[in-house]
Amino acid sequence: MSVIQQVTVLGATGSIGLSTLDVIARHPQRYQVFALTGFSRLTELATLCIRHEPRYAVVPDAAAARELLRQLAGADLSTQVLVGEAGLCAVAADPEVDTVMAAIVGAAGLKPTLAAVEAGKKVLLANKEALVMSGALFMQAVRKSNAVLLPIDSEHNAIFQCLPVDYARGLAHGGVRRILLTASGGPFRQTPLAALADVSPEQACAHPNWSMGRKISVDSASMMNKGLELIEACWLFDARPAQIEIVIHPQSVIHSLVDYVDGSVLAQLGNPDMRTPISHALAWPERIDSGVAPLDLFAIGRLDFSPPDEERFPCLRLARQAAEAGGTRPSMLNAANEVAVAAFLERRIRFTEIASIIDDVLSLEAPGQASDLDVVLAADQDARISAGLWLERRGR
Ligand code: NAD
Ligand code: MG
Repeated sequence: MSVIQQVTVLGATGSIGLSTLDVIARHPQRYQVFALTGFSRLTELATLCIRHEPRYAVVPDAAAARELLRQLAGADLSTQVLVGEAGLCAVAADPEVDTVMAAIVGAAGLKPTLAAVEAGKKVLLANKEALVMSGALFMQAVRKSNAVLLPIDSEHNAIFQCLPVDYARGLAHGGVRRILLTASGGPFRQTPLAALADVSPEQACAHPNWSMGRKISVDSASMMNKGLELIEACWLFDARPAQIEIVIHPQSVIHSLVDYVDGSVLAQLGNPDMRTPISHALAWPERIDSGVAPLDLFAIGRLDFSPPDEERFPCLRLARQAAEAGGTRPSMLNAANEVAVAAFLERRIRFTEIASIIDDVLSLEAPGQASDLDVVLAADQDARISAGLWLERRGR
């Protein structure tokens, strides 16, 4: 490869952003950082700017821009600072950018990720919430612009690696019977059911296998993460919810599997380190060193599997129902979950009330068709308001 790829990292200060920059720094002859974006961790963003010398840095507002510039004052950098959603969309769609890592957490990532898609970039999708919210529109935009969409979520990256190359022609055409989506079961897989109401945010964020941001860690503990991933997989691979089976696999060594009609089952294995899917997607269709240690099967010794328990994890049932209903339901599910998870992290609600809030919000009527972005965003707003009312009614 001769030309250096210009990469924008949306959500550079987060867990995925930092892992991406770790991989990029290993391959300076392949990748150059075009833009970095951050939200609240401005000191970390300043450190990253000094290390990677991006053309642009994006922060939420003018006050954050002043603070970042103050922190960069001594460094001899030509980094320009942009602000807000317009700044995020600009660095996602800039004609000089080849690749965009979409690693902002939650609905806040939707517009910049779509901007990258519409500009026909190679889009590395970590921000699953964006696809869950706007699936049909998002995939339409991918087809229209010829963007290359590659999954970063470890399960979806695994499925992508195990599917036939021409899977876009249809799973049945390629002889695929089912997709087996693995899940670790999170920190509460074996916690007594009666104790779940009293678990703390610290316990929820202590994932047994993965080190991640706080929102996705809580989602993993409630298994809403797997519910969002079910919806994500339906859009990415043009699958029906019934074609996807969730398998609890506590070791997180098999990242997912594809079951073919001839009885072959292909799996992708690896250490639970996001630098593997990030490197895979960055270099695709080539392979590069990620810095991840080789898998030691003898040290792992055994791999276990069991079916998920929907009594323990009601969020799974809620997500499957939203996946089957389609339209604006996934956007509402996602928005209600974002409000509920934030309230849990602020200790305003119990862990078990996350599912109660989502259930309550999803009992609302909703516009059926997610016909354009405004409808999707209106459903998101309605769900946030209704989740807010749930909290208010209970004085939280
Ligand atoms: P994180 O909390 O560590 O980082 C989130 C990033 O988003 C930060 O850079 C933050 O500055 C930015 N951000 C937050 N709110 C923002 C806003 N309103 N506007 C602009 N930027 C904002 O999260 P993470 O663990 O890196 O996860 C990022 C995304 O990747 C999520 O969608 C998550 O589901 C997905 N993902 C993460 C992992 C993982 O291992 N961490 C695995 C699979 C998928
Ligand atoms: Mg995942």
